[in-house]
Amino acid sequence: MQSRLKLKDDCPQCGLALERGERADFWIGAYVFNLVAGEVVAIGVPIIWMIASAPNQPWTEIEIVGAVLCVALPFLFFPFSRTLWLAWDLSFRPVEPGDTSSTTSRTI
Ligand SMILES: [Zn+2]
Repeated sequence: MQSRLKLKDDCPQCGLALERGERADFWIGAYVFNLVAGEVVAIGVPIIWMIASAPNQPWTEIEIVGAVLCVALPFLFFPFSRTLWLAWDLSFRPVEPGDTSSTTSRTI
């Protein structure tokens, strides 16, 4: 991770090119991972809180926490969603010789 919003070009451990020569739409899968994971947690926390605090639920606090989680979790989870998506992609398309360095020529 180079910053929260931009990946490094290569893995610092093994030199794997993190941009695998795909078009920009390659990362749509990461956005799906990010949205689904973030929203499942953002909905799950209030549901568990409602069940655990029954019958006297603090409705205002539950609503505020749920709304904050819906907005904050996709931002917090974003870098991890990209690496998870890359791992998912690697499980179906193993590393090829051109994937080990970003300096090798790749066709985009
Ligand atoms: Zn690596």
